[in-house]
Order: sequence, then C-alpha cells, then structure tokens
Amino acid sequence: MTSALIALGGNVGDVRATFNKAIAHICGMAQAELVARSSDYATPPWGNEQQARFVNACVEIETSLDPNALLFTLQRIENRFGRDRAREERWGPRTLDLDLIAYDDATIRTAELTLPHPRLFERAFVLVPLAEIAPDRVIAGRTVRAALGAVSTEGIERLPDVGSR
Ligand code: ATP
Ligand code: CA
Ligand code: CA
Repeated sequence: MTSALIALGGNVGDVRATFNKAIAHICGMAQAELVARSSDYATPPWGNEQQARFVNACVEIETSLDPNALLFTLQRIENRFGRDRAREERWGPRTLDLDLIAYDDATIRTAELTLPHPRLFERAFVLVPLAEIAPDRVIAGRTVRAALGAVSTEGIERLPDVGSR
C-alpha cells in the first residue's frame, strides 16, 4: 500500500455532497483506505477568474493501485459525477476535478501524468487543505507547511463542517 495525496475541486452543483460521494468511490474503486480528509474550503477561481468560487479539499489515501491506474480511476470518477472534458474550457467551471498531487515520493513525467503535480506550489487552494492533513509531508524537497508559507491565502475560507450547521 502506498500513500497518495489527491486534491478535489469543483464549482458546479452541490460540490460538497459530490466530494463525499467521490471520496467513497475513490476508496471503493482504488482499493484504498482513507487516511485523512481535510475540511472543505471556499476559494477564489484560479486561471479564469470570471466564474463562481470553487470548493476545494484534499485527501490522503493508502492504495494498492499504481499511479497510472489510480489516475485512470480518478478520471472515471470525475466522469461519473458529470465531468465532461470535451465541452469545457481550460480551468473553467466543472462539477469535479480530481488531481493526483503526490504518490509516495514518485517523480513521473509522461504525457498523461506528472508527479508531483506541477502547479502545486502556485496554488494556495491546494496547499491550504493539504497543510491541514499533511503539513510535514515533503514534496519535491519542501514541506507542505513551508510551501504554504510562500503563497497568499487571501480569499480562502474554511467552510463549517456540514454536521455542525
Ligand atoms: P491542472 O492540471 O492545471 O490542475 P486541470 O485539472 O483543469 O488543470 P484537466 O483537464 O483535469 O486539467 O487534466 C488535463 C490532463 O492532465 C489530464 O488528461 C491528465 O492526463 C493530466 N495530468 C498530468 N498530471 C496529472 C496529475 N498529477 N493529476 C491529474 N491529472 C494529471
Ligand atoms: Ca486541477
Ligand atoms: Ca485535473
């Protein structure tokens, strides 16, 4: 079993409900155990600012799938929750985005998969939830905590737990 970090995002539909269902699917389909789940965060849109705010979260799983099989599984789950890559613009609105952030300490650069995720260190919307569950994890030679300290977290807001509302 190998530790994998996955970032979740979306800004169409009931994203928080989608996350919970998607995480259950990840565990079922990726032969995985959930190690940790961050809170959900409301975050400003990135890349294309003319769209609704996103919800973002991160999970750590232990999986027996290899990285490519895990990515394929994540894409199947995205599709199941209404993701339609053929119709969307880059960094535009979507129901569910599942990015593989890190797989153990693997370094991979193929057309389909880059690990660690190449834009991780620019993205407070990933680093904030990741720092909640894995602050001491070292990715590409930096701790998540240190990487978070180097970005602006302006506009990112932790959402209250659903159960306590
Ligand atoms: P970004 O990659 O900047 O977060 P995005 O999530 O909007 O953008 P997608 O359209 O979801 O991009 O994915 C584009 C391609 O990225 C996928 O087809 C996939 O093969 C590739 N990819 C490469 N590395 C990764 C990774 N670590 N996690 C997820 N997808 C990846
Ligand atoms: Ca993404
Ligand atoms: Ca993606």
